[in-house]
Amino acid sequence: MLSDRIQPERLAGYFKTLCEIDSPGLLEKPVAEYLQCFFSKFPGIVVEVDDSALRTGANTGNLIVTIPGRDEGATGLFFNCHMDVIPPCIGVQVDYTDGVFRSKGDTVLGGDDKAGIAILMELTHLLFEGQTPLPLVQFIFTVGEEIGLLGAEHLDRELIQVGYGYALDSTGIDNGIIGAPAAVYVDAVITGRAAHAGLNPEDGVSAIVLCGEITSQLPLGRVDSETTANIGLVEGGAATNIIPETVRVRGEIRSHCSRKLAQTIEVFRRTFEDLSAKYGGRAEVDFPPQYPAMLVDESAPVVQRLKRSAGALGRSIDLIVAGGGSDANIFNFKGLPTVILGTGMTDVHSNNENIALSDIVRTAEMVATLVTC
Ligand SMILES: [Zn+2]
Repeated sequence: MLSDRIQPERLAGYFKTLCEIDSPGLLEKPVAEYLQCFFSKFPGIVVEVDDSALRTGANTGNLIVTIPGRDEGATGLFFNCHMDVIPPCIGVQVDYTDGVFRSKGDTVLGGDDKAGIAILMELTHLLFEGQTPLPLVQFIFTVGEEIGLLGAEHLDRELIQVGYGYALDSTGIDNGIIGAPAAVYVDAVITGRAAHAGLNPEDGVSAIVLCGEITSQLPLGRVDSETTANIGLVEGGAATNIIPETVRVRGEIRSHCSRKLAQTIEVFRRTFEDLSAKYGGRAEVDFPPQYPAMLVDESAPVVQRLKRSAGALGRSIDLIVAGGGSDANIFNFKGLPTVILGTGMTDVHSNNENIALSDIVRTAEMVATLVTC
């Protein structure tokens, strides 16, 4: 089996190198160049950078790597990872102790999503080392995932020659995420009436007080079994002696059910508008789409292949519906069925982020087996 030839030390080396290359959202070029250099050493591999930078504002496009197959009849597949890392992510120094990678503590590690990228680098060696018949394999390395799935949204779909694939971008191990919610942003401006706080407070309507009234009435947290909502940012006011005229409130609503998403949006809209009016102010609220929901059918070839792969390795695989949004939401929406695989990364989006080499290797075994089964 391909997976028998994985070299953990080589994989660990790629992972550490990747983590220590700075790549905040929209500034992924150093990682893209490192990968272009790596893949261009293998004969026959085609490395393309799409034109998405024109629309994302990143300093590179998405990187699409195509590894030609050696078996015309085999069904091709893609793997996807994002190249950007959530802040704080500048000057990452990797510590490897007792089989676990961590940052030195003042940044994230960046295993989200560089564990996946390192696995695909190792996979590339495996594909070239033997004579196993192989399908066409593509890697899609995106930009700006953490700041709004920007690379996936603006991906040049024409460059993708295969019908489905797997995103290596989740916590846990031996799992496949087949469902994830849709999300919208909440963006509201509450307007009251400014007045001097000491001279004529009777003439003022405080937008901050309105904001308190409104947010205390909104359905927040886990709204129902399929829906969550959050207000995450409040900005407003001008000075300590001025009754505040405007407050901007931003948040999000997610739901696995489009009907419940629409219902929750309507409750938010009415709460903002009605309560503002009741207290003598007004509110304008928008719900810009963030990403669409995804739900891959368990009978779909992308899920069946994952089950075969797990079976070949003698493992069971957990198929789960999760609460996050990722590039896979966009790919599924664009007609590229995508299942998200856990890589073993832990405490992601925090400076405690860590990942065990044994879990990276375990994921690499699944990825290598997916190619051939
Ligand atoms: Zn991620």
